[in-house]
Parts: sequence; structure tokens; C-alpha cells
Amino acid sequence: MFLTRLIYASRISDACNAHDMEAILKVAQHFNKELGITGLLCFTGTYFIQCLEGPRQNLNSLYNRIARDPRHLNVTLLEYREVVERSFDQWSMAYAGSTAVDRQILLKHSAETHFDPFSMSGASAFAMLALLSQRLPPSGYLS
Ligand code: FAD
Repeated sequence: MFLTRLIYASRISDACNAHDMEAILKVAQHFNKELGITGLLCFTGTYFIQCLEGPRQNLNSLYNRIARDPRHLNVTLLEYREVVERSFDQWSMAYAGSTAVDRQILLKHSAETHFDPFSMSGASAFAMLALLSQRLPPSGYLS
């Protein structure tokens, strides 16, 4: 089964609250482990940018499930490609919240003068997530 990487961006919906973030991560860590999926979820306060990597078929099913989740909107695929190795292999789902994400990092990877993940290239989104992952403690969680 091909090792595949997928990155998408979405916008938080009114159906999502602070408690949901913890619930999402708990569920993600549980299911992703079972599916052989690793990755990083970044939340800016408005947008989600998530990288998922793992066996192609499992990744496709998971993405379809996530895309239907009413806690976010405008789910937009930024990158989908076969890769030779994982980049976030330490974590079934790491989390970079607002403490990890600052304006400088967002704008460094943004085509616009304001941060707009929907106009990011897959390569920029990946570079941004890779940079954020370097700020994370070994637990892979920074709220
Ligand atoms: P169930 O938990 O049985 O839920 C059924 C439906 O209700 C689903 O459509 C679900 O999306 C929705 N739902 C569940 N809880 C709520 C709630 N509190 N409010 C409103 N709707 C709700 N899951 C993973 O397994 N791995 C991930 O990496 C992952 N990343 C995510 C990233 C984001 C930004 C979001 C919003 C969700 C993510 N999820 C992830 C959660 C995923 O969408 C599913 O809820 C989860 O996988 C459980 O699937 P299920 O079929 O058992 O749904």
C-alpha cells in the first residue's frame, strides 16, 4: 500500500467549541493509531490546517469522514501525493494551537498580505507545518 500524504485547510464552524478541540484530538489519536496514520493538526483560531500521512486507502477513508464533520467548513485539499517517508511519524496526531502558531510563521508561508490557507500551495502548507512541528514538545501538543 502506498505511503501517501494529504494536507487540507478548513475554517472552524459555529458547531465547534473549545471542548471539541480536545475531543477531536482524543478521537483522532485513537483512530489514527488503528489506521496507521500520523500527522499534525494546526489551529490558528479561525482555520485548521491538517497533514495526514499513511496508507493510501486508510487516508482516503479518513479524509472523507473528516470532510463531512460539521465542526468545520470549506474543507479544501491543498496536497495529495505519494511520499517515500513520513514527516510526522512520532505522532498519531500532533497539535499546534495558537501558542505555537504566530503571525510571522503564517505570513512567511502565505501568498497574501493576510493569512489565507485556501490560497496556499501544498508545498507552502507542508513547509509551515514542518516548521511548527519543530516548536512542539515531545508530547506533540502545544495548545
Ligand atoms: P462519530 O463520532 O460517530 O460522529 C458521527 C458524526 O457526527 C460525524 O460526522 C462526526 O464528524 C460528527 N460529530 C462528532 N462529534 C461531533 C460534535 N461534538 N459536534 C458536531 N458533530 C460531531 N478523526 C480522526 O479519526 N482522525 C483525525 O485525524 C481527525 N482530525 C480531525 C480534524 C478536524 C479539524 C475535525 C473537525 C475532525 C477531525 N476528526 C478526526 C474527527 C472526525 O471528523 C470524526 O468525528 C471521527 O473520526 C469519528 O468518526 P465517527 O464516524 O466515529 O463519527
